[in-house]
Parts: sequence; C-alpha cells; structure tokens
Amino acid sequence: MAAVCRRGWAAAALLRRGPLAGLAPGPRRHRHKEKWAATAPRIPPTRLALHDFDVNYSLQLKDLWPSVRIGLLCEQKYGALINNFSSADSVTQELEQLNATDFVSEALRKVQVTSVEEVERKESRSLEGSGEGRTVMQAEMMTQAEMMTQAEVSPQLRASMCTHIKCYTFPRGDITRFRPARPDTLGLLNYYLLDAASLLPVLALNVQQNDCVLDLCAAPGGKTLALLQTGVCGHLAANDVSVSRTKRLCQVLRSYVPKEVRETVSVTSYDGRDWKDLEGGIFHKVLVDVPCTTDRHSVMENENNIFHKMRTKERQMLPMLQLQLLMAGILATKPGGKVVYSTCSLSSLQNEYVVERAVEIAETEFNISVQVENLSHFRTLFQDTFAFFSGCRLGELVLPHLTANFGPIYFCKLRRL
Ligand code: SAM
Repeated sequence: MAAVCRRGWAAAALLRRGPLAGLAPGPRRHRHKEKWAATAPRIPPTRLALHDFDVNYSLQLKDLWPSVRIGLLCEQKYGALINNFSSADSVTQELEQLNATDFVSEALRKVQVTSVEEVERKESRSLEGSGEGRTVMQAEMMTQAEMMTQAEVSPQLRASMCTHIKCYTFPRGDITRFRPARPDTLGLLNYYLLDAASLLPVLALNVQQNDCVLDLCAAPGGKTLALLQTGVCGHLAANDVSVSRTKRLCQVLRSYVPKEVRETVSVTSYDGRDWKDLEGGIFHKVLVDVPCTTDRHSVMENENNIFHKMRTKERQMLPMLQLQLLMAGILATKPGGKVVYSTCSLSSLQNEYVVERAVEIAETEFNISVQVENLSHFRTLFQDTFAFFSGCRLGELVLPHLTANFGPIYFCKLRRL
C-alpha cells in the first residue's frame, strides 16, 4: 500500500515538472474536487428552451421566427369558454359590452355573409354574362376564400354550427384581461379561461349527436369541458395518466358541470398507450392532445420546465411517446371514426412527423388505412382571430403573434378507413 502511494506521489511530482504541470493532481490530502453541479453557472431551463427554439424554429419558420419569438415571450391572450351549464345568462351581454365577441359564431356569421354575397354576385353575373368562356374566366377570378366557401366550408359550416361552443375573445391588438369567472346560484362557474386556439382541435373533431368520444390525455380538462359544451356527446371517456392532474380534471368538472352530466363522463388514469388493450375500436371520435414541449411555458416559466437538464431524456423521448399515444388513439377509433392529434408546440418533429409516422405504422403494422383530412378551411374561417402558419404539410398550426397572441397550437385530423 505504501509503495503504491509512493509511486503515486512520484508520478504527480513528474507531471508537475513537465509541460502538463498545470493539470497534475496535487497531493491527495490537499486535493479539492470541485462539484460541477454546485459551481458551474446554472443556465435556467427557459434560456435553454429559447436557445433550442432559436436553432430549430429559425430553420423551420424562417423569416416568421423573429415575430413568433416575440409573441412567445409576451403575454398570452385568453378566451372565455362560455359554460352552457351555468344559468348566468347575463355573462355574454357583459362580455359584449367589453367589446369581446364569440369567435366561433362570428366566423360562421362572416362566412354566411360571404356565401350570400357570393350567391348574389353569381346571380347578377349570370344575368349579365353568357357563354362558357365567361364561366371559366369567372372561375379563374375566384379568390381562394371564395372557393373554400363553396367547396369545403359549407358542409363543415353546417356541422360546426351545431357545436354550441361559444368562446369570447377581445379583438386583435386588444390585450384586455378577462375578470375571474363567477359562480351562478348553483355554484357553477360562468366561463373557463383558456388559450382560445386550444378549442380548434375540439371544433375539428366535430362531435355529432350520440358520438362515443375519448379524450386520451385529458387533464386538466379544458378540452374535455369544451367537448361537453357541445351537448351532443353520447358517452365521454376522459383519461390522463397523471393521478394528480386527473384530480384537477375532476375539480374542473365539479366546478362547471352539473352532477347528472358529470355522471355520463368516465374519468380514468391509465397510461393512454395501453388503451388499445382496454377498449379498442369503439369510439366515433378520439382526441389525442399529447404532452409536448409546451413552447410558451418553456420559455416563460422555470418551474416544471421540460428543458430542465434533469429532464433531457424525457424531452428527447417526447416524439416517441406522442407517436405511441397517437397510435393508441387510432386503434381506439371505430372504422370510419375520426382522430384529432394536437400539441401546443411549433416543432414539426412533434407535429407533422408524428402524424406521418403514425399513418405509416397503422398501415404497415396494423393493416389500418388512415387518411389525413384537409383542415385548410379552418384558416379561412378563423383568420380574423388567429395567425395561421401556411407552411404545414399536414394539419394546421396557430402561430403566436403580438396582435393575436394565441397558440402555438397544432392540430391534425385523421380518418380511420
Ligand atoms: N387536453 C388537456 C386540456 O385540454 O386540458 C391538456 C393535456 S396536456 C397537453 C397532456 C397531458 O398528457 C398531461 O396532462 C399528461 O399528464 C398526459 N399524459 C402524459 N403521458 C400520458 C400517457 N402515457 N397517457 C395518458 N396521458 C398522458
């Protein structure tokens, strides 16, 4: 033992004399091992997130990134989802007096006006002009919005009119905050504050009378509540793997939904990836609102931040988890049923790539054909409220913007054939 120690000392002495002298360890008893974790400057997760986004999103969004970045770093806008179960009728009038409008009915109203104007224009054109040549010219002159109005919006419009979802927002550029919700005489709160863009996945799901609906990652429950506001769900299964977050979901349901309606909702805390083993192929509509990098939260809040060094692995595994959850959602859907996949991230790795891979796996491993539906009419319908990205290969993405600071929200609709 003594010999080993002596050899160690001799080697250290040699190193101290040579060119590597500065790196030689000192005598053992004086050596002070620096604790990296305690001394290295700690970079807050929000800075790490912003750095990651600067690298990736400047490539993905190109010239749009500086403006989206400012939006992400500024105060987010909210919408007030009206609680149809609450008896506080005056709430919509109060909100309208504050200059807020229901963005859903407002969009539908504008499209209806456009449709009527278009019909009138066409009628007057057919009175003026004649011959096929003129019809071709007229068709060429149609704007994209007009074509959408005719080709796609009408059936969608009729369907979405039945949603009963009402969400008030302040106009573009108006950053007024909503007052906290108030209870009615039965104790049910009159509205639920949320990112108004997070209703788009629910609107895209387009729940119909008596649909059997699954909300696979449901907590804390904003979208579950919106699904219930449609008033048409036959049965709603709301699931979330996190027990604590599921408790928050139950609290939301207690605060907004009467007991008899709550009883039609089954709340569970399973790992959504296992859902296919529980209830495969029985749902008409499935919402898969997956955990993601929650971009806005990641650049603003250090607490519970997915960019924390200790959560690196978890973050890297997100696209895999998202893919597994989307696959479970597809397998839970009936043939002919619809799935909406959504995130609150700008990342194409967590958005389009997950969808593409899921469609591929469904086909190759499960022999299930899945079709991605075109949702571009959402851009036309809701362009006055949200800033949409026009470069998505699949699905739609709402970009944060200073004048309409909602999102990011990505949503994509799939049909199981
Ligand atoms: N849809 C919710 C809403 O509108 O309030 C937000 C859902 S949040 C974006 C994602 C949720 O996925 C988290 O509540 C998280 O607990 C849940 N989650 C994460 N992994 C899951 C899994 N394996 N199975 C089911 N839920 C999971």
